[in-house]
Amino acid sequence: METVSDFFGKLVFDDRVMKAKLSSDVYQSLKKTIDQGAKLDISVANAVASVMKDWAVENGATHYTHWFQPLTGITAEKHDSFISPAPDGRVIMEFSGKELIKGEPDASSFPSGGLRATFEARGYTAWDPTSYAFIKGKTLCIPTAFCSYGGEALDKKTPLLRSMEALNKQALRILKLFGNTDVKHVSTSVGPEQEYFLIDREMYEKRKDLIYTGRTLFGAKPPKGQEMDDHYFGVIKPRVAEYMEALNKELWKLGILAKTEHNEVAPAQHELAPIYTTTNIATDHNQLTMEIMQKVAQRHGLVCLLHEKPFAGVNGSGKHNNWSIATDTGVNLLTPGDTPHENAQFLLFLCAVIKAVDDYQDLLRLSVATAGNDHRLGANEAPPAVVSIFLGDELTAILEAIENDEPYSAAEKTTMKLGVDVLPKFPRDTTDRNRTSPFAFTGNKFEFRMLGSSNSIACANMMLNSAVAESLKIYADRLENADNFEEKLHEMIKKTIKDHKRIIFNGNGYDDAWIEEATKNRGLLNYKTTPDCMPHLLDKKNVEMLTSQKVFSEAELKSRCEIMLDNYCKTLIIEATTMADMARKEILPAVESYALEIANTAAAKKSVIAGISTEYEEELLKKLTCEAQQISVKTDELNEEIMKVKDISDIEEKSYAIRDGVLVKMNELRAVADEAETVTAEKYWPFPTYGDLLFGIK
Ligand code: ADP
Ligand code: MG
Repeated sequence: METVSDFFGKLVFDDRVMKAKLSSDVYQSLKKTIDQGAKLDISVANAVASVMKDWAVENGATHYTHWFQPLTGITAEKHDSFISPAPDGRVIMEFSGKELIKGEPDASSFPSGGLRATFEARGYTAWDPTSYAFIKGKTLCIPTAFCSYGGEALDKKTPLLRSMEALNKQALRILKLFGNTDVKHVSTSVGPEQEYFLIDREMYEKRKDLIYTGRTLFGAKPPKGQEMDDHYFGVIKPRVAEYMEALNKELWKLGILAKTEHNEVAPAQHELAPIYTTTNIATDHNQLTMEIMQKVAQRHGLVCLLHEKPFAGVNGSGKHNNWSIATDTGVNLLTPGDTPHENAQFLLFLCAVIKAVDDYQDLLRLSVATAGNDHRLGANEAPPAVVSIFLGDELTAILEAIENDEPYSAAEKTTMKLGVDVLPKFPRDTTDRNRTSPFAFTGNKFEFRMLGSSNSIACANMMLNSAVAESLKIYADRLENADNFEEKLHEMIKKTIKDHKRIIFNGNGYDDAWIEEATKNRGLLNYKTTPDCMPHLLDKKNVEMLTSQKVFSEAELKSRCEIMLDNYCKTLIIEATTMADMARKEILPAVESYALEIANTAAAKKSVIAGISTEYEEELLKKLTCEAQQISVKTDELNEEIMKVKDISDIEEKSYAIRDGVLVKMNELRAVADEAETVTAEKYWPFPTYGDLLFGIK
């Protein structure tokens, strides 16, 4: 029987393959490029391309593509075949270093937020050798960055790589100050836990809202929802288990370390978590995972919903971004150490994160902002829209002791002095876990929990890396010029705790009292919607930080802000239009047909028995007529709102108008339509109900 280790990574041009197939010189040069960012020679590229092509062809590939992540949030590819005519009329399979390194997709229809004027519609893709090439179907996929000819990033990968480099640079400065000169590279790792829903394909196909928008726009609450909590970690149904097995196999072939899977809180909701890896690879893998989840579902007569809120009244789906910083020598910098020296270093990195999250709450918030995620954040099922950090009681107490020059515990007599004391061991506690915090320390990593299930993790990580790089830069600047390193270090850590402790909150993040406390007393930001937060991308402090860390240019930031808001507007207009269409063409005719049946029943009864009571039919008929009337009125009002925002050209203004007009009317229409669903006979209802969708998989 074929075992997992036989096929794991079979479709990946990974280190094993490179080592086995490339000449030693070529392998060494490529390794240098991968590990240290050294420039790649064209002769090396040619050698790699040729070997890569042979390997791909052996594994069934006929085409290649530069695989990239444009700002649409999904991945893009343009396939070219390897074939090239030979003089004798046959074809040979060819692939050059030039084709490997650089591609020129016709990029005019990818969003650029005005960066690429349409007459200069060309952008180019550039090979990212730090992420392995892989085979999908019959195509060799080469992970690439996507830029304009002016050098501006048109994708999510470029700024992500730049942010990793920014963090590397500053972290190395700090490590050097602590005497760690053997470290050559510092990188961030991520393990993203991915939530999703599985529903039956036949049912899906009967709902225009799911087809066009990925979420249900109508649907009355089923008699049973998630209140029994019987789905979480429950037994996985056979059909779902088969799906998970097939999915794992596909992911493993691509070298994706899919590790855990379980049912989630909501019915039909599940989770998949991979083992963590370097951030840019984790990003590529998560994009691939989402794509393959959907593909495999199709093969199993299922649909995988990645929307953040497919069902109202039922928990939505998020993605937990487990993040840490590690050296190339294998040290996790977010792990408390055994010696006073290591501890001081740990505390400094911890403080860098605390400071970063407090200083750039807005960037973290907006990095996860989409129309879909707006339904989740702050809805008592996901973290609130207020960013805060959970550290746990023990670590918080340690920081307090440092801040106040007090002994950490009664047993100790002396105050904590960094560089002298060993921190008390605090266990990596998995039982006392706070699940309501947006940003939780979990022993040796932080878990950023605000991401939506369909978000690319690139956005959150580029902001996180940049903000932490900025804290580290400030620390390094001060420490490098300090007369007394240890004193300065102690003073800086104390100051960070004092200045930023407002961001630390160990209580229940879902509690309304916390939001009050956070915003009123602590002055933390509470940007509830995408239009609220996105424009802050262009706040002076944010532009200054992101440009000085060389992660974005100002033009890139402007274009991104515009694209994200445009995306928000388009999403909602598609949803609104779909709603109006479903209301007019499906829901109203259904309610009317049922009303007609009731009217006919009453008339028939009366014609058989004169004077018989038809009170029930009459009351119901009145109710149905009233509901239909309401639906019609609300549909008209929704259409009016859609028309109103059409001509607003300023994208910020438009996003507010949509949020405060269109979205409000969508909710009103939904309320009356859902009410009508509860009084309309089931056989008339035009599409599968919540009960059908959520409990439909046997
Ligand atoms: P949970 O209880 O939340 O499932 P786990 O320890 O299983 O916690 O980890 C969840 C995710 O965090 C997994 O994807 C795992 O690989 C990842 N993870 C574990 N350690 C690290 C680390 N040092 N850096 C980044 N991610 C990590
Ligand atoms: Mg988790």
